[in-house]
Amino acid sequence: METSGFSPEQLTVRDAILKICSNFSDDYWMEHDQTETYPHELHAALAKDGWIGIALPEELGGAGLGISEATMMLQSIAESGAGLAGAQSIHANVYATQPVAKFATPDQRGRFLTKIISGEWRTCFGVTEPNTGLETLKLTTTALPDPDGDGYTVTGQKIWISSAQVATKMVLLARTTPIEEVKKPSEGLSMFYVDFDLSQPGLEAKRIKKMGGRAVDANQVFFDNYKIPKDSLIGQEGQGFKIILHGMNAERCLLAGEALGLGYAALAKATKYARERIVFGRPIGQNQAIQHPLAEAYMHLEAAKLATYHAARLYDRSSPNHPEYDSTITQHAVGIACNSAKYLAAEAGFRACERSVMSMGGMGYAAEYHVERYLRESFVPRIAPVSREMIMNFVGERALGLPRSY
Ligand SMILES: Cc1cc2nc3c(=O)[nH]c(=O)nc-3n(C[C@H](O)[C@H](O)[C@H](O)COP(=O)(O)OP(=O)(O)OC[C@H]3O[C@@H](n4cnc5c(N)ncnc54)[C@H](O)[C@@H]3O)c2cc1C
Repeated sequence: METSGFSPEQLTVRDAILKICSNFSDDYWMEHDQTETYPHELHAALAKDGWIGIALPEELGGAGLGISEATMMLQSIAESGAGLAGAQSIHANVYATQPVAKFATPDQRGRFLTKIISGEWRTCFGVTEPNTGLETLKLTTTALPDPDGDGYTVTGQKIWISSAQVATKMVLLARTTPIEEVKKPSEGLSMFYVDFDLSQPGLEAKRIKKMGGRAVDANQVFFDNYKIPKDSLIGQEGQGFKIILHGMNAERCLLAGEALGLGYAALAKATKYARERIVFGRPIGQNQAIQHPLAEAYMHLEAAKLATYHAARLYDRSSPNHPEYDSTITQHAVGIACNSAKYLAAEAGFRACERSVMSMGGMGYAAEYHVERYLRESFVPRIAPVSREMIMNFVGERALGLPRSY
């Protein structure tokens, strides 16, 4: 990747993260993918050096940096060869904790975030449901106040919850007021930061077999009258959708960075191979049919990189606490930029991975050359946390003023 134009902080983050990740070889990631084993060691190494709290407040032990630096961190993890699996073992601790940091009380912040930053706890993110999918506002998991007023009882199902097997906490979006009783479907949802304790009654997680990123578990989660204390609620009851959006825009930036990192990692492997592999008496990379698609993939990554770091900058500078706060940056502008960046980076990452596999011929298909693993992983940012189609629906409506199509 061309690193001109990044801030000194971003470049410091990049150097430090690449250094830590250099202790995790390509074979480590291949083996963890094949054996579906969680990369605990990466999380521990990053926590030890204080990186999990990169974008969390300094008074809690975080680094107090922004999503611009956190995006660089996740890109560098993916780019090191850890790919999406490595990034996914870290990223919820960075983005899902953003709304907690912003909307929790000072007491909740201290109790909930300090152990995430130290690495003692891990968080997962519970939004997607099997029966409502991308129609988030229709989600049916309920958190009903207990009659004694001490807490809530959660009932419902979530799906595709990453890291649920290792998490201690979950950011949970659940309905606290029935949809029929609110003016808008975005009301009546609440965000909770719950203890995620699989040994407790009423909570179960079942692992889903998946195509890529197999080192990190994805799960179906079942809540059956699961009790949570009252102070798991973050912010005001009924305002959870607005609150969680804050984490979702951050997530789009991080995923965009991860897709870029994966794409650059694939290109590094493919260009090395194309320089070294001799067929018909010359390196295959001397053929334009090999060279041009790789060059084109690189340019797409570089363009998506600009969109990604532009979005992250808008996200950071729209926050009143940021030293370069700009009150003219609207949340509408942040939403368009973060969604667009996630779309463009996901497509560029996929293109780079696909071109890399194809450039390497048969060896592109062999596990020991790693790019087939990157290609499998490159589908994730195209699907999650929001699909390509829904981003186009959003941009068509919100940026272009076209009639809502769904
Ligand atoms: C590896 C992985 C990890 C994940 N981790 C998490 C996690 O930790 N936490 C979490 O909450 N979720 C997680 N997800 C879930 C992810 O966010 C969802 O899969 C994603 O939002 C898509 O939802 P869905 O699968 O229900 O698709 P659906 O809503 O069923 O949609 C299926 C397809 O139909 C298209 N479609 C639907 N409606 C329209 C429309 N109106 N116009 C055009 N196209 C439409 C969609 O674009 C999509 O292509 C993860 C998913 C994956 C694959």
